[in-house]
Amino acid sequence: MNYRHAYHAGNFADVLKHSVLFALIQALRAKDTPFALIDTHAGSGCYALDSEEAGKTGEYRDGIARLLFPDLHQADKAASSALPSLLRHWLDAILALPGNENGLKLYPGSPLQVARAMRDIDSAQLCELHPEEATHLRELFRNDHRVHVHNRDGYEALKALVPPKEKRGLVLIDPPYEAQEAEYRLIEAALKAALQRWPTGIYAIWYPIKQRSQVQPFLRGLQHGFARRVLRAELLVHPDDSPLRLNGSGMVILNAPWNFDQVLREPLQAMARLLSKERAAEWRLDWLAQDNETTATSPT
Ligand code: SAM
Repeated sequence: MNYRHAYHAGNFADVLKHSVLFALIQALRAKDTPFALIDTHAGSGCYALDSEEAGKTGEYRDGIARLLFPDLHQADKAASSALPSLLRHWLDAILALPGNENGLKLYPGSPLQVARAMRDIDSAQLCELHPEEATHLRELFRNDHRVHVHNRDGYEALKALVPPKEKRGLVLIDPPYEAQEAEYRLIEAALKAALQRWPTGIYAIWYPIKQRSQVQPFLRGLQHGFARRVLRAELLVHPDDSPLRLNGSGMVILNAPWNFDQVLREPLQAMARLLSKERAAEWRLDWLAQDNETTATSPT
């Protein structure tokens, strides 16, 4: 377990992951009844962007900072001016974090973003295997009765945590992929077990894209026998042909809310525009499975 998210917090992959997460929480909040969030790989919850770790990689500068300060990167200022409201609200929530009053100093991880977006009636179960990260999480949420921290394997815990008593909500699966093949097998097994116990839950899985061929079998597998609706959203800042670097990332959402593709379309377009590097970033948004199967696409 060498992975530490502090080196990567706020990078272009977090921008995709956390803006999609934000949109899912907004969709869950549209109903008055409570929901549960289960984060199987929670990290430490909040990251200082002036830490030694963040400073070593500076990854947030090509991620969240590009959305917040687009004029530094865009020659065409008009193109960067209007952000879709989903992204505007997501960025506002990050800047409203205590500690960010004078600019972006802290980047909240998924647990803190969710905790700030959910209501008093909602609840969160956070799993984190690394003892130090789990200790940070406990400290962060020690006064929050809605949030429960588990220092244990997230895949194992998931079996015990579903279905939640609220009977509606979201599972976020965001592992480190230190061994890609093995991680995909773990995700598939965990999803199968969880879906059997809680077929109506929403499951959002983040995945890295280095070489397209590494992720293809997983995406193809999701087309059959997992959930009736599977939406895929991807953002690539480099071509997906090199195993040596993170070229892009994606989220697949099982049991995605109806019309969730329409919620994500404009934000993805805007993210691609703002996160482009030496070439235009690419994005994909399609249903890998859908109730009406004729409209689902085969992943390429
Ligand atoms: N979800 C977090 C966010 O968006 O802010 C980032 C999570 S980071 C990508 C992955 C985390 O999973 C690391 O903190 C790592 O220690 C933890 N981890 C690795 N294997 C795990 C396992 N089997 N169960 C739970 N946590 C695990």
